[in-house]
Amino acid sequence: MIIIDGSEGEGGGQVVRNACALSLVTGQPFRITNARGKREKPGLMRQHVTAIEAACAIGGAACEGVAVGAAEFSFTPGKVVPGDYRFAVGTAGSTGLVLQTLLMPLLLADGPSRLVLEGGTHNMLAPPFEFVARAFVPVLRRMGAQIDLRLVRHGFYPRGGGRIEVDIQPGTLTPIECLDRGALRSVSATALFAGLPFNIVEREIATARRLLPDWPEDTFAVHQLPDEQGPGNVLLLEAEFEHATEIVSGFGRLGVSAESLAKTAAHRMAGFLASEAFAGPYLADQLLLPFALAGGGSFTTVKPSQHALTACDIIERFTGRRWAFEQQANGCHRARCG
Ligand code: AMP
Repeated sequence: MIIIDGSEGEGGGQVVRNACALSLVTGQPFRITNARGKREKPGLMRQHVTAIEAACAIGGAACEGVAVGAAEFSFTPGKVVPGDYRFAVGTAGSTGLVLQTLLMPLLLADGPSRLVLEGGTHNMLAPPFEFVARAFVPVLRRMGAQIDLRLVRHGFYPRGGGRIEVDIQPGTLTPIECLDRGALRSVSATALFAGLPFNIVEREIATARRLLPDWPEDTFAVHQLPDEQGPGNVLLLEAEFEHATEIVSGFGRLGVSAESLAKTAAHRMAGFLASEAFAGPYLADQLLLPFALAGGGSFTTVKPSQHALTACDIIERFTGRRWAFEQQANGCHRARCG
């Protein structure tokens, strides 16, 4: 039984999700104490409970102590059974994060699966659908994975009600080298909104346009969704390179002005464009698990985040595989698994 102190390192939900995924893939049981111990409201939240229960359902696993607010639980994996599954995060919890938990075990299972995930599709502190579909999954496809995903309905905090569908064909993952992102092909800035005044997105776009002066005029757009999918708003800044795509998101919320949201997102995108990294900070922490399960490979990224370093620790505990980060002359860091 692997014992994990969930307050170490990043001390958040990703420790829980990665442990479930790794446990299902390697067959090793684990126990987490102090789950999400570094978060303002420690313990499992609804979305973590859904992710663990979903992992139990696909993996014939048994868990003890899993409940909203729980600080400690154990998880004993069984055999992953591919198939059709539907999981609903009872709140607007992130569907992208539930997918993070299930994707690797189902990809490495012995038959195809279809997942229907309901909840939030555009949540703060989680990968929005576009990020999963256009930044993360294409790298997995290069490793040989066959994954198709669709956004059926948007879901924003707090209402939720979003839906994504994911088709997964089983297969093995091949180690790849992602050192060079290639030339910049296109950029876009899209302000999505539902059930909110138009001037919010107008101000977001105006700020982004001012701070990204080299971006062509026609790359800025607003996209209005039906009111009943709201209220919700996200600004998505996307840069597509030959071999990689980065999507920076800014989530609208009470107390944060449209201008300041757009400014933060634009600065983050400008920072990424100025680097030569293949993966931004979020993509980097999300690639560590699939690369390790492929048995190796490397990619370049910006400075490794606490999320990334914590993921490396958890991965090593389940697989024995170590990640190393090495700073390069151009300021990028090369993450190497081997
Ligand atoms: P945790 O904070 O431990 O629940 O983990 C959050 C996960 O969501 C990490 O894998 C992050 O990389 C990912 N994440 C958070 N915000 C974003 C974002 N704006 N875009 C893409 N991924 C994100």
